[in-house]
Amino acid sequence: MTSSSKTAAVIGAGFGGIALAIRLQAAGVQTTLFEARDKPGGRAYVYEDQGFTFDAGPTVITDPSALEELFALGGRRMADYVELLPVTPFYRLCWEDGTHFDYANDQEALDRQIHARHPADVAGYRRFLAYSQAVFEEGYLKLGTVPFLNFRSMVQAGPQLAKLQAWRSVYSMVSKFIADEKLRQVFSFHSLLVGGNPFATSSIYALIHALERKWGVWFPRGGTGALVRGLLRLFEDLGGTVRLNAPVERIELSNGRASAVVVHGQALPFGQVASNGDVVHTYEQLLGHAPRGVAEAKRLKSRRFSMSLFVVHFGLSTPQPQLAHHTVCFGPRYRELIHDIFHGSALADDFSLYLHAPCATDPSLAPPGCSSHYVLAPVPHLGQAPLDWKIEGPLLRDRILAYLEQRYIPNLRQDLVTCRIFTPADFKTELSAHLGSAFSLEPLLTQSAWFRSHNRDDVIPNLYIVGAGTHPGAGVPGVVGSAKATAGLMLEDA
Ligand SMILES: Cc1cc2nc3c(=O)[nH]c(=O)nc-3n(C[C@H](O)[C@H](O)[C@H](O)COP(=O)(O)OP(=O)(O)OC[C@H]3O[C@@H](n4cnc5c(N)ncnc54)[C@H](O)[C@@H]3O)c2cc1C
Repeated sequence: MTSSSKTAAVIGAGFGGIALAIRLQAAGVQTTLFEARDKPGGRAYVYEDQGFTFDAGPTVITDPSALEELFALGGRRMADYVELLPVTPFYRLCWEDGTHFDYANDQEALDRQIHARHPADVAGYRRFLAYSQAVFEEGYLKLGTVPFLNFRSMVQAGPQLAKLQAWRSVYSMVSKFIADEKLRQVFSFHSLLVGGNPFATSSIYALIHALERKWGVWFPRGGTGALVRGLLRLFEDLGGTVRLNAPVERIELSNGRASAVVVHGQALPFGQVASNGDVVHTYEQLLGHAPRGVAEAKRLKSRRFSMSLFVVHFGLSTPQPQLAHHTVCFGPRYRELIHDIFHGSALADDFSLYLHAPCATDPSLAPPGCSSHYVLAPVPHLGQAPLDWKIEGPLLRDRILAYLEQRYIPNLRQDLVTCRIFTPADFKTELSAHLGSAFSLEPLLTQSAWFRSHNRDDVIPNLYIVGAGTHPGAGVPGVVGSAKATAGLMLEDA
């Protein structure tokens, strides 16, 4: 073992990178976390303006046990670093006819609302929940943190996947149990949260429903950024090193192994290297000098990438007590709009939105009497719709704010204190995301598990991947699970 083999570089401080760095450091590997931007978090970056705090990305925090596990590894308690607050309802789903559905962890309330829409669906929902629990056991608890390094591991999982009818889409599976179209939307939209088209993504992703029912939906006091900061503090308390404003320019190879990362022109040697950056960026930019990088980037670019998002962060001078913390605002079309987002080459005239109102749970995110928000619309990625977002962005922002004002937030534009947008072009430039995709490789069955980028590179034995592009995939529980799978390999190899 060389002197550097007990050292590791983790490139990127997204949730996956931070969770991996904590696991390595807790196991005694001297770990340095390199982050290109001035703040950690990646998709979970934080903007602050005039007393408003805006989480840039994840706001629905699920599976707190996976986070607690990271603190426990270091002999600490999560409660000493960050407080998670329960969110009720989990989500409010609203339609243009003025009706809504409060999705909460309250069986009686769920039954009542389902019954009001379609009585027969009460029993159907029970059967769907049982299905969702079965895929949760199989897909999340058993396989969610296991690296799929060879085809054999995929074949071994085959019978169970077949039994669970994993080839069917989420929407098709929900429709098997539930007849009402709006309830089908309620129980199938979840795959969008990890970049999956409900009409194409494997029904395995129905597990998100059971996961939320089991562990609830949470929000960190102070915002998701407070969770990122808590995890980073844990990493530093364990003796890890964080370097912000430190974009890795290249991964050096020596005798076929990763030997160093180059930062600000300086080569820094490490025994192991893991990338939490976008997978195409990792192979094309950081390893573009090596045949392996060129070949893998080419292969990845031929795969399907998930949609992008258009996000508007805005602060208001008024509170908005009528809003739930998480609202899904369904537009006039569901199937057709999703088709346009995943396959269209232009922006649709309509949209469906997710509206974040964190002050419903934690008023400290805005100055007294004010409220902070973001609203997002899923949009095609840049490969599909190569739009000029400098022009389209402000236009779409204005359309969305006018829509919200008309239906959800009276006087929105009059009360607007601050407003900023984040477009697919920003995903590309700020996060080096291939095609500006918000969730990396689309979570199709043919791009999952062994078919996804492997947690350990197939050719370079001490190069690893962590985050949305590898197994199991996007979403905070997904990337935190990927860190467990990747850390297992790295510790075994070291
Ligand atoms: C708007 C939005 C809302 C979302 N909402 C939710 C939600 O409510 N719940 C949920 O579970 N998930 C949600 N997601 C998904 C979730 O946020 C992501 O899947 C997850 O955070 C991705 O984590 P990651 O580990 O892949 O890293 P990323 O967040 O992608 O971070 C990667 C980091 O690597 C850095 N990096 C890249 N290249 C380099 C380099 N060369 N050198 C140094 N650093 C580099 C980047 O700057 C970045 O900080 C949301 C995503 C978005 C965009």
